[in-house]
Amino acid sequence: MTAKLIKGTEIREEILKEIEEEVKQIKEKHGAVPGLVTILVGENPASVSYVTLKIKTAKRVGFKEVQENLPENVSEEELLAMIDKYNKDDSIHGILVQLPLPKHIDEKKVLYAIDPDKDVDAFHPVNVGRLVIGEPKFLPCTPAGIQEMIVRAGVPTDGAEVVVVGRSNIVGKPIAIMMMQKGRGANATVTVCHTGTKDLEFHCKRADILIVAAGRPGLVKAEWIKPGACVIDVGVNRVGISEKTGKPILKGDVDFDKAKEIAGWITPVPGGVGPMTITMLMKNTLNSLKYKLGLL
Ligand code: NAD
Repeated sequence: MTAKLIKGTEIREEILKEIEEEVKQIKEKHGAVPGLVTILVGENPASVSYVTLKIKTAKRVGFKEVQENLPENVSEEELLAMIDKYNKDDSIHGILVQLPLPKHIDEKKVLYAIDPDKDVDAFHPVNVGRLVIGEPKFLPCTPAGIQEMIVRAGVPTDGAEVVVVGRSNIVGKPIAIMMMQKGRGANATVTVCHTGTKDLEFHCKRADILIVAAGRPGLVKAEWIKPGACVIDVGVNRVGISEKTGKPILKGDVDFDKAKEIAGWITPVPGGVGPMTITMLMKNTLNSLKYKLGLL
């Protein structure tokens, strides 16, 4: 293997320790701790496991943590009333509504009801707008994790050719915007590829930093990677069930085994971008308190 492995699991530990330390200091000086409320509707097993991990991580870094578990048949009005309550609660700095929501609830209406200053997922149009004009308050968690991995691995970004595969609102679009802004871990020339792109191989081959978020296992071939490039594989694809463990076998969007012999840096799946998302959610919640205290 020639590529340096960028391990999300290790970077997560570094960042969580930094957050934990900062929480202690703020508590001592200002008598306040970040407060995060997680709102879960129903019992979708994947959602339950995501929320459980978010709660566990919030507790670990010393946050105040409030859990709201609502039944599947809760009305939209009740959910909106709950959001309104936490919008007004001074001890809560981050409101997280776990998606997806049941079909009878308008997801957009719910997400847009969250106070943009407590929108630690950064899905609210106000936060998307802030990001686009280069004045972000919160960065969306998965793209923020990707950028943090690039920075901490020491990958040069200034003037780099960045190619993003995927144009979703949660990964492709925001990471493209972030990488083209002036500033730390950015200032790159960005190309965005998607299902309408004519020659994906051509674009991938030009990339100094290739960020793939397509959700298509093995889409990017090793021969498409520029020698020495940094490859960030966001894709998480369930390609079967392990006979040994009974757990799903996860694969990324990049042909990792061959690509690692060509790339300069590469993220594994699992253990790459995945662990960074919840970590950046914690960072956003801490930052929300810091904004309130005038520390940011
Ligand atoms: P999405 O389905 O919303 O978007 C996929 C994008 O890829 C689309 O914009 C589409 O245009 C593009 N695409 C698909 N096939 C393509 C092809 N053949 N050629 C070029 N472009 C193509 O997906 P998403 O929500 O952005 O997620 C993408 C992947 O990242 C998924 O595997 C998802 O599970 C994973 N993901 C991981 C994390 C994490 O690790 N924390 C977070 C979010 C998403």
